[in-house]
Amino acid sequence: MTVCITERCTRDLRAWETDAHMLICSPCLGQMRTWLQQVPAALTVLRDGSMQRERTGTAGRGGTRTAPLPGRLDTLNLVGPAATGDVHDPHGDQTGDRPVIGVLGDWTRLVCEERRLNGPDSWTETALAAWLQPHLGWASQQAWVDELHTALRDMTWTIRGIARVDIRTRPISRPCPRCDQLALQQTDGDQYTRCSNCLSAFTTAELEIDAAIRAASAA
Ligand SMILES: [Zn+2]
Ligand SMILES: [Zn+2]
Repeated sequence: MTVCITERCTRDLRAWETDAHMLICSPCLGQMRTWLQQVPAALTVLRDGSMQRERTGTAGRGGTRTAPLPGRLDTLNLVGPAATGDVHDPHGDQTGDRPVIGVLGDWTRLVCEERRLNGPDSWTETALAAWLQPHLGWASQQAWVDELHTALRDMTWTIRGIARVDIRTRPISRPCPRCDQLALQQTDGDQYTRCSNCLSAFTTAELEIDAAIRAASAA
């Protein structure tokens, strides 16, 4: 059995996934698609927030009037222009979180180089995120796909942290098909149910099959 190469993922690759030369599992591939799909909405929240802080001079919800600047710089850094020509930051002089456009731009350049493509017509966060999505299947076959997964995950977590977007997670009251623990949970926008104990991910169909097997063996 081959295991998905994504950081912390323990899912065995299914036969059809290895036949398709995928190095990561389809739940991890689906996560990357979801993260890219969320970019336009997240950027709207970030931009609105930073404009409001500029007008009012406060840091918004939970912020204080005496120290409005740190929160604002966070946001401006994240939605600001990326430094071109220094994308890999070899001297480590880039502070704070990478701007979203820098993260997406790096990976778009890589895909363009390797697939000999021209990239999107406009170089915006939304355009880059949309342009990358149809290349994810191909990317899942590349040795660096775990790095792409980590980059998109970190970017999404940073956005969620700053935009204070609440992502709800609900426990699922049935045992995990893999480790038998009652640790399954479902998260908004995630098409897979995930186990917080063994980090496996399951489709609804897989959970139903497992439930049927358990019901049959209990009878
Ligand atoms: Zn995976
Ligand atoms: Zn489990």
